[in-house]
Order: sequence, then C-alpha cells, then structure tokens
Amino acid sequence: MRPAGRFVAEVLTRLEAAADVGVNLLELDALAHRMIRERGAESCYIDYHPSFGAMPFGKVLCTSVNDAVLHGLPHDYTLRDGDLLSVDFAASVDGWVADSALSLVVGTPDQRDLDLIDATRVALDAGIAAAVNGNRVGDISAAIGAVADSRGLKVNLDFGGHGVGRTMHGDPHIANNGRPGRGYPLRPGLVIAIEPWFLHTTDQIYTDRDGWTIRSRDGSRGAHSEHTIAITEDGPLVFTARD
Ligand code: MG
Repeated sequence: MRPAGRFVAEVLTRLEAAADVGVNLLELDALAHRMIRERGAESCYIDYHPSFGAMPFGKVLCTSVNDAVLHGLPHDYTLRDGDLLSVDFAASVDGWVADSALSLVVGTPDQRDLDLIDATRVALDAGIAAAVNGNRVGDISAAIGAVADSRGLKVNLDFGGHGVGRTMHGDPHIANNGRPGRGYPLRPGLVIAIEPWFLHTTDQIYTDRDGWTIRSRDGSRGAHSEHTIAITEDGPLVFTARD
C-alpha cells in the first residue's frame, strides 16, 4: 500500500499549494483528475454511490468550504479571502487504496480557524499514536475525543475512520470519540484511515441539497485531517505522510 499512500500524499501536497484566493474548486478537482490519469491510478470517488449519497459522486475530490466539512461536492465556486477549505482524496494504485485529508485557509486566516485545523491535526496524531499492537479501536477513538474535549469541541459520531484496503471503506469503523480498551483489537497488518473532523460550535450536521455535502447545523466552520496507516510490530506506519 506504500505506492498508493505516496501518490495520495503527492496529490494533496499539490492541491495544498494550488489552493488560493481566486482558484475555483473545479480547477482543484481537474488537477487531481489529471494526476490520477498521469499515474494510471483509479479514483475511489467518481463512481462512488453509497446508501447516503443521492447519485454517483462524479468528481475525484471532496472540497468542503467553511460550514461544509465532509463529502463536499466540487462545484463552480471561486475561493475567497479567509475561506477554510478541507480537501479529502482517495485513490487506488495497482489495486490498493489510500485515503487522506487536510484543511487549510486561503488568504488571510482567522486565528480561530487555524486553531480548529490544529485541533484536528493534534487529534490525528493522538489517534495514530494509539494505533499500536494490543490496543483496541476504542483507544484510538478515546485519544481523538480527549483532544476535542481539551479544546472545548463537541464530537459528531455519524462519520469517522474506517478500514482501508482493496476498497476505500471497510471494517472496523473508528468513531472520533469512545471508550478506551473497547472494540475491535488492533493487530499487525490491519490498515485503517483515521480522520478526526470537528466543527467550531456544534456537533450537529445536515446534508446539502446537492445530496452529498455535509454542513454544520449552526453554520459554524469545520476542519478535517486524515491519514491511512498500518498497525505493525514496530508501531504505526503512516502511508499518506507528506514531507
Ligand atoms: Mg478520506
């Protein structure tokens, strides 16, 4: 799964550099699509049609802006000064999948938005640190939840991390809060995506009329950080690490 992880990290690095005031979300999607074609990879999103989606996704990237936090369907929107953008990308390389996400602010940042993004990064690091042989899924969940608690953030449990392998989503589900010592045991060879996402002032969400984009109920902004990792004898191995 290393090639898939490296590729997904490369695409996110390029998107992070490209995202700026005046850039359209459709341009970011087109950039990722071009990189998929050049690499001979396959998109996990374009034909994706789960029970909670209104129709096949049709794009290769999730772009969630401001009060949107997950599954943002790229549309004709030009980024403005101070926008908080979350980008989530998954692709298959030689039949193996990696999945990763990051958030950033374009133009002039609001310190509160930087703090929210930082909370998701710190929670991701804490979740990864708990992803060791002998622990259980609940240890990862509790580590993420503890960071949210320490920042005064509430955690929504509707969407979280998941097993990754030949397909993008598999067991086990990894909630972003939970009880330590409980749940599926972590053993070497298990590969999972860990993905804390938080909203400023609520844990309530709704689905946009586009059938996909998940937004905060109160309009407050969201942030999201995700890596695909393996549990190994030597500790967690992060496939989607960026330089
Ligand atoms: Mg993802």
